Amino acid sequence: MKVFKFGGASVKDASAVKNAGEILKQFEGEKLVVVISAMGKTTNGLEKVVNACYNKTNDALLILEEIKSFHEKIMGELFENDKHEVYQKVNNLFVEIEWVIEDEPRGYDFIYDQIVSFGELISTTIVSAWLNENGIGNNWLDIRDCLLTDNNYREAKVDWKQSELLFNEKIPALFASHPIVITQGFIGNTSENFTTTLGREGSDYTAAIIAHIMNAESVTIWKDVPGVLNADPKFFNDAQKLEQLSYLDAIELAYYGASVIHPKTIKPLENKNIPLHVRSFLQPTAKGTTIGKDLQTKPLVPSFIFKTNQVLISISAKDFSFIAEENLSAIFGTLAEIGIKLNLMQNSAISFSVCIDDDQFKVPKLIERLKEDYRVRYNSDLQLYTIRHYYPSTIETLSTGRDILLEQRSRNTAQLVMKAEEKK
Ligand code: ASP
Ligand code: MG
Repeated sequence: MKVFKFGGASVKDASAVKNAGEILKQFEGEKLVVVISAMGKTTNGLEKVVNACYNKTNDALLILEEIKSFHEKIMGELFENDKHEVYQKVNNLFVEIEWVIEDEPRGYDFIYDQIVSFGELISTTIVSAWLNENGIGNNWLDIRDCLLTDNNYREAKVDWKQSELLFNEKIPALFASHPIVITQGFIGNTSENFTTTLGREGSDYTAAIIAHIMNAESVTIWKDVPGVLNADPKFFNDAQKLEQLSYLDAIELAYYGASVIHPKTIKPLENKNIPLHVRSFLQPTAKGTTIGKDLQTKPLVPSFIFKTNQVLISISAKDFSFIAEENLSAIFGTLAEIGIKLNLMQNSAISFSVCIDDDQFKVPKLIERLKEDYRVRYNSDLQLYTIRHYYPSTIETLSTGRDILLEQRSRNTAQLVMKAEEKK
């Protein structure tokens, strides 16, 4: 059995859905679990619905209507028969969203998951129906019947034991009638039957969870890039494709923010030596990149990860005493409580510095909390470069004439925090 994952861009309109169908046809007869994300930018749209609903701005239904027409247009282009049952099914899903909007308000994260999860339910309903209509027989699985999580809404943790039992019960039964199972990425369910999500861009992770549990032969993520590149072509002119990558390099690159693979994806695969292929849905016969056991990264060139909108916070004791274990423990407690991920940290005798994403809610909250006990200085509008497999010359080239605020090097990875370049 293989696991495929199609992200939002690969099902963003009717022709993209048809293209995904063509790809599946290349694998006719093989057992496939196909994990699909919400169509195009639907998740962002649903986030707006959540905000409107939570802030009671009265336009939640209006925004929802736009998302509905977007899907109706796609269905209109996919299904000739305008009485096709898919319309009713999708309509019912939208009605369910309206119920959530009209429900008694609960916590933000809870409402978020109850609403945003519909993006995947809708996309898979449409894709599954279209494939069945076009000779690609498949079963639709509501992944919430199998993927159990805790109730940490928006960042739910998988209950591996229960999920394993449920997947092993459901998937083979579905394969008995069709070789393809279509299911949702990104979402799960609590034991109390509330929907959860695994964190933005979590569909890759879903694919890895299923592959791990079902001992899949491989996972393939179909993307709009030819594979894993050594840099984001948006920022670097001569990005090149990596043919293969070690699990370790893949984890490190994803961890430092290479957006091509969700960081949680690699571990479950590595633990069972399941290879991960990253391939282009635009050139479905091209080889892409393979990440797997005993593979050395090839070509071994420096890989660049570039993050903008960074803030560097330096924390020192008010009385200039040392920043030692007790303070660090308290600082980390605060960071964890606010849910902040560190992109870089550095400690000296009297100060502790962290570089983090400049989140408009979390950062002011952090600074306010830290100021109760520490002296806090910060610098915003910064850029963070992480370079894996760097050469000294790579760093020189990057930083010539720039203001470096912090630099850190280990044997394989270098990180530089710099002021954003002046706009010319
Ligand atoms: N639809 C979700 C998101 O955009 C999950 C995913 O695409 O992986 O974050
Ligand atoms: Mg997406």
